[in-house]
Parts: sequence; structure tokens; C-alpha cells
Amino acid sequence: MELHGVGVGRGIAVGPILRMPDPLPEPDDARHDGDSAAEYRRVQASLAEVGAELAAQGEKAGGAAKDLLDAASMMAKDPTLADDVKARIETGKSGERAVFEAFAAFQNILIGMGGYMAERATDLGDVAQRIIAHLRGVPAPGVPESDTPFILVATDLAPADTALLDLDKVLGLVTRDGGPTSHTAILARSKSIPAIVAVTGALDLTDGTVVILDAAAGLVTSDPLEAQIASAQARICARAAAVTIPIADGALADGTKVALLANVGSPKDGPEAVELGAEGVGLFRTEFLFLDSKTAPTVQDQQEKYTELLSYFPGKRVVVRALDAGADKPLSFLNSAHEQNPALGLRGLRALRASEQILLEQLTALRGAQDATEAELWVMAPMVADAEETRYFVGLGKALGLKTVGVMAEVPSLAVMADQVLASADFVSVGTNDLTQYTLAADRQLGSVASYQDPWHPAVLRLVKMLGDAGAAAGKGVGICGEAAADPQLAVVLVGLGATSLSMTPAALADVRAELATVTLEQARAKAAAALGAISASGARAAAASV
Ligand code: PEP
Ligand code: MG
Repeated sequence: MELHGVGVGRGIAVGPILRMPDPLPEPDDARHDGDSAAEYRRVQASLAEVGAELAAQGEKAGGAAKDLLDAASMMAKDPTLADDVKARIETGKSGERAVFEAFAAFQNILIGMGGYMAERATDLGDVAQRIIAHLRGVPAPGVPESDTPFILVATDLAPADTALLDLDKVLGLVTRDGGPTSHTAILARSKSIPAIVAVTGALDLTDGTVVILDAAAGLVTSDPLEAQIASAQARICARAAAVTIPIADGALADGTKVALLANVGSPKDGPEAVELGAEGVGLFRTEFLFLDSKTAPTVQDQQEKYTELLSYFPGKRVVVRALDAGADKPLSFLNSAHEQNPALGLRGLRALRASEQILLEQLTALRGAQDATEAELWVMAPMVADAEETRYFVGLGKALGLKTVGVMAEVPSLAVMADQVLASADFVSVGTNDLTQYTLAADRQLGSVASYQDPWHPAVLRLVKMLGDAGAAAGKGVGICGEAAADPQLAVVLVGLGATSLSMTPAALADVRAELATVTLEQARAKAAAALGAISASGARAAAASV
């Protein structure tokens, strides 16, 4: 049987699947047998065991995952919650029901508080599910444990699940929901886990079924033939060999330079980027540093972090993006308002402009880092609509002493006005994830519209060409920093459209470097022209391949 979805990256995996258990149904309003003390003892044992299990998992995982799991463990051990559960049991409710109600009541309080606290409500719900599963003696929701490698099949993955994946065991990911540029997919790509999202029928696969996951083809083949397995395994070996090709600067076959840069979310990502041959950083998502902060970070705290990242790249370009708050990356200190359509709301530069002091402090911290290191710092704003917003941001940055200031092209209006934008911006970097979402009017988080979220769509490519042409006319750089840059075939087309640099998760650098080296600029332009004339994303892919 073949199931289709949207591939994330180009990886291949072969193995048996394990399904992430479905969320447990709400416990019915059952009564216990009358012995409240015994019922509460049963619950106490589950609270203690789940708390200890979470803490032990945190210890094993380390890093950011440990913080998440320690916090969850504390929730299971929280005395106030335990008292509430006890009180409900004393009214005759079953242990499962009492846990469900007590945790739900606390979740509602957190949601009412908004911002950071509201985000923790999901974690609390997860802990409640684990306790109820323990009481029932059924598998806990979350990533299943296994001694042997497997392909994980899930409805979708929460960021916490992705952070916890044991890379020695999880060969690949298949999800029914999610889009290729949701941040969970970005995380999967950064960990080099082959993944396919938005797979209709994924949840019909049963545990133990062997599948071939082919991300490049967006195809899950269940119960494959021996010959199909052998061919997939040969491709896995070939990919592993490609990664060992010597690291060199990005260039086309005719020697045309195309800088290959890294997307990073923390200064800690710097060494790996250098090791994998990044020629600098093309996107530092600074908001990732502060997702858990309740208050705006100080200038000093920020300056230290930016200086740390810049110090890994002496003499090299490091493009730092101002905080991109809103939609799927809420920063409670920048925008905590409930919005009906957050992707179309007070996001990116709009939110920064509404809290200008926070923007000024970030630019001041960046100026400090620029002066403290040998790196070539470039600073850009996210979600910029037009030349007026460009002038505002560039003016502010220059007034504060930043040398190179540009904007991201994520909103189609910016691409349409590219000539005006490049009159004041020093550079443009194309965020193809959002540019695709806004061009095709398809929420990048929503599995049901994932097929629209394809940067190969000729409408997106035409906007990139407008940007590329304006960049060439103004003699300024046009980089790509969305996930599109990590697709080797699309990377070639983007260069043909005028992209001068490509930035991606460091794990993707080797594949893209190898592909660029196979075409001349003339060939890349011919592929781009063919793709521009297609009528659909798949047509553009096929047209580029046929040239
Ligand atoms: C993009 O939109 O392409 C981008 C690089 O920004 P992010 O994915 O962080 O929204
Ligand atoms: Mg974006």
C-alpha cells in the first residue's frame, strides 16, 4: 500500500512502525467503590511513579528536554493538585475522574492567565494523561519506548515530543497533520530525521508494519517487496556517502559563488554549523532564545548571547533577525493579545514597532556585539510589508550604529515593491516559509492545506524572481533563508532566479553543496525559466528536472 504526504527534506528510512498512542478519552463520571482512602492511595502511587518517570527521562535526555521534563515531573508531584484530587475522591469520584477534573481546573486557571502560563496548560494536560494512563494500566501518550529502531507514526508531534526523540531509535517520522514548514518539521529537518507530514491514512498503519519512508517522493510504502527494500537501502548508503564529500565553499559548476550559510536558533548551534562547512550564518532566529521569557530580555543578556554566536564566525557574515514574535512563536512580552488569525496579526516587525523600546534595546545589544567581535554582522527585520517599513527599520538600525541592515521578504507586498525596498535596504533575505503561506493563503500549521504550502509553486518563484531582479539592478544581495533553500533541486532554481546566498539547517548543507556543483549559472537559469512557466508546484518541479 502507498500513502502520500508532504516530504520534509530528502531522507529515506526503512523499518517497522510504532504508533504514538492516541490521547485517552475523557474518563466518565464513574464513582469508586466507597473506600476514598484506598482510592486516593492508588492515585498517590501513580502521581509518584509518573513524577519519578518524567524526572528519570529528563535525566536521560539532558539539555532543553531535561528542563521540560523536570517541569512536568514537578507538576505530577504538586501538593496543591494532589489535595484537589483527594477532595474530589472524597466526594465519591473515581481516581481517574478526580485527576482529570483537578488538572483541567488548574489548566483553565493557567489559560485565563494568558501568555507563558497559558502555554504551560498544554504541558499540564500531558501530565494528566500520563497519570490517567498509569491508573488504567495502558500505554502513556507521547513518544513510545522501544529497544529497537522504529519509524514513528503520530497524529502530530508537539515540540516537546520532537525534543525528546531518541535519534538512535527513531528512524523517521510520519504524521497525519502538520505542514512542511511548521516549526516541528523544521526541528525534524535540523535533526536530519527523514519525515513526511500530512499523510492521509497514516493512522491506519498498525504497529510492526514495515514501511519505506521516502521524503523526496513524499511516499510511505507499507509491506514493501524485498527488491524495494534493497533499493531503498542502497539509496540510504549513497546519501551517507554524499555527506562525506569534502567541504568547500558553495559554488556552481562554472565557479559562480553561492554562499552557503546556516540557520541557527541559539549560540550553541554555532560550532556544528562551522563543522558542517557553513560560510557564516544566514538566519539567527533570536526569538527562539526567549520563548519561555515572561519579561523582555535585558540589553546585557542579549549582548552576551549575540557576542557568543558572532565569536564563532570571525571575518564571516552573521545575519541576525530581530525578534519574530507572533503566530506560532508567541513571546508574551511582545504580543499576548488573543488574535483570530495570528499569522495575519501583530507579528514580526509590526509587534516590534508597537513595543519600540524592546526593538531599540535589541538593536543596541546587537551594536554592542558588532563592536565586540570580528564577525560581519548583518541585521534584518521579519514580516516587513513595504518600503515604508523598510525605511523605518533600516533608519533605526543605522542610527544606532549598525553597519548592514536589511529586511526579510515574507509578505508578497514586499516582493512586489522590491525595487523601492532595495533603495534603502542593504540586502533582502527571502523567508520562503512565510512567503509561501501568504502567497497561497494557506496556514503553514494546518495539515489540511499542506499541499498549498509548497515553495515550488510558480507564484512563489515569480515573487523570488522579482526580488532577484531588483537585487541585481541595485547591486545588492538577495539570500534565501526559508526551508526551500534546503531542497537541493529547488536551491538550484532559486539561484537561477537571482538568489546570491542560501541559508539552511546545517544538516542540509552537504546535499545542497553537492547539487549546486552539478550545474552552471546558465543551466540554473534555464531550469528557473522552465519552472516559472509551469502552472503548479508539481509542474514546476517536473519542468526544472526536464531541462
Ligand atoms: C520563513 O518564514 O521562511 C523564515 C525563515 O522564518 P520562520 O520560519 O522563522 O518564520
Ligand atoms: Mg518567517
